[in-house]
Amino acid sequence: MILKKREKPQELILYELLETRKTLNTEERKKYNKLKKGYEGECMFDSYTNNLSNDARVINDLLLLQNERLFQIDSLILVNHQLFLFEIKNFIGEFYFEGGDFYKEPGYEIENPLIQLKRSHSLLKRFLQDKKSTIQIHPYVAFVNPECTIYQVPRKNSIILPTQIIPFFKRFSKTNIKSNEKNLMNQLLTAHQSDYIINHPPVYSLAELKKGIVCENCGSLETEISNQYLYCNNCQTKEDATKAIVRTIEAYATLFPTSAITTKQIENWCGYTVTSNRIYRVLQRYYHPRGKNRWIYYTRQQT
Ligand SMILES: [Zn+2]
Repeated sequence: MILKKREKPQELILYELLETRKTLNTEERKKYNKLKKGYEGECMFDSYTNNLSNDARVINDLLLLQNERLFQIDSLILVNHQLFLFEIKNFIGEFYFEGGDFYKEPGYEIENPLIQLKRSHSLLKRFLQDKKSTIQIHPYVAFVNPECTIYQVPRKNSIILPTQIIPFFKRFSKTNIKSNEKNLMNQLLTAHQSDYIINHPPVYSLAELKKGIVCENCGSLETEISNQYLYCNNCQTKEDATKAIVRTIEAYATLFPTSAITTKQIENWCGYTVTSNRIYRVLQRYYHPRGKNRWIYYTRQQT
């Protein structure tokens, strides 16, 4: 049973939207690729845990605070009366361990994932001690990508290689979850820090972003609206025009959460490819008007 589903990180959503409207610089591109690869790896991992028996309990992307220290757990699974903590890595290429350090071939030292794992393990241990829980915790780094090879893996380690993931989850038998275990999982869910702030958010301004309606299929701005459809001149995809306009308003609201949504702003954001009347009708139908007359603006939520 999945207690907390994995959601696409907000930071990744921002980069996806920005990528279609500006040229990302080297740093931004690097960050974007890292976030994308990480999320893809986590989804790959989820495809295995989604098939666990019903009495297993899964919490994804858990962010906890222990002694004023934040730590993130990619996946936490309670099964067979034990708790499994997973740090998920979507590495591609050849890697090796040597003298307690971790390297990418041909010899670049990179951050040892076992050290990161040790930190979250010890913080989780303390978190559970505070809750008077004595449940056993097993920490693992799971390398999910089949194109990843790791040499000199220390024995008696906390590493799951791509070929070991399926057998790892197969070994669990069906057992009933105890009520104190249920409580513990609920306590963990309640402790999740949902208003997480992005450390170094991408920096951008409305002026620098290209205006227009992005094709949902290929991300191109070479689109045009004709009656009921949005047509892409790059990949020839056809999309319902209203749906495309709503999608474009949503992108604006996500990128500029503190700016007011007005007909004028959206007209500009769409690159003047949609008439203000049509934008007005879409806003009236799908959003919530505030203010009066020419001061009217729209919000996504009713309250
Ligand atoms: Zn397209």
